[in-house]
Amino acid sequence: MKIPDDHPRAKSLLTREKLINSYLEGIVAASGLIAHGRGEAFDYLLGEKTSKPALKAIEAAAAMFLTARKPVISVNGNTAALVGEEVVKLANVTGSKIEVNLFYRSRARELAIKKLLEKAGARDVLGVGKNASARIPELSSERRRVDPRGILVADLVMVPLEDGDRTEALVNIGKKVIAVDLNPLSRTALRASITIVDNIVRSMPKLVETVEELKNRGVGKCREILRNFDNRKNLAKSMILIRENLSEFAAEGDTERGRAM
Ligand code: ATP
Ligand code: MG
Repeated sequence: MKIPDDHPRAKSLLTREKLINSYLEGIVAASGLIAHGRGEAFDYLLGEKTSKPALKAIEAAAAMFLTARKPVISVNGNTAALVGEEVVKLANVTGSKIEVNLFYRSRARELAIKKLLEKAGARDVLGVGKNASARIPELSSERRRVDPRGILVADLVMVPLEDGDRTEALVNIGKKVIAVDLNPLSRTALRASITIVDNIVRSMPKLVETVEELKNRGVGKCREILRNFDNRKNLAKSMILIRENLSEFAAEGDTERGRAM
């Protein structure tokens, strides 16, 4: 299907098309399509752009990456399908490892994701097959399986589009966690150390750019940014933004109704 460039929802339709193709290729799980839909709903309420609080979280995330000793980027099907190339770029500029971690683990899906990431330039993709031989406690699903060279020994794990249980489990075993989640109310958003409330399609390229800028400003600057960042307060700003957007939409509707009457 060809999506016309001037279609008002062209970007969102293209993203959907990418996910559907990746689903057909065995990269994205069926539930990944539903998860995306929930994200889209929040994106609508956020005005479909990177907000100020999102930019603040992106800056803090960049600072956290640049001060981490063993950062790992955890990748699932949706992340690989939507921002595989940016994941590889981010890993390169931050010296992070990349690990595949899936809710619905299957050897075929793991391999398909590994192949996609390698095509995007990744050299060493962890967590595939018997390499995911370690277990993190407190989780019952297949996601507890981790690579002993990656998430198990990491001090920082970035978990884009993650489930709340796993975020919680990672925080409970002492990891710092950076999440990307359009829903500021999800358990993931509330439990992570830093939550970027923005579409991953917009926020990953921005994060790479911010790391590159911040790299030249030194570790002292990164520590200062982190000292001044409060995730709960920043999440509240996203919630307030949704409220303001809703009030604005409602006010517009009210005026139109007024005119019609
Ligand atoms: P939680 O388990 O954290 O309480 P949940 O169960 O409501 O959250 P999940 O299905 O576990 O949600 O995870 C999907 C999450 O990913 C959703 O909260 C959704 O907002 C988010 N999401 C989906 N697609 C994107 C995207 N493209 N960019 C950012 N976030 C997204
Ligand atoms: Mg969930």
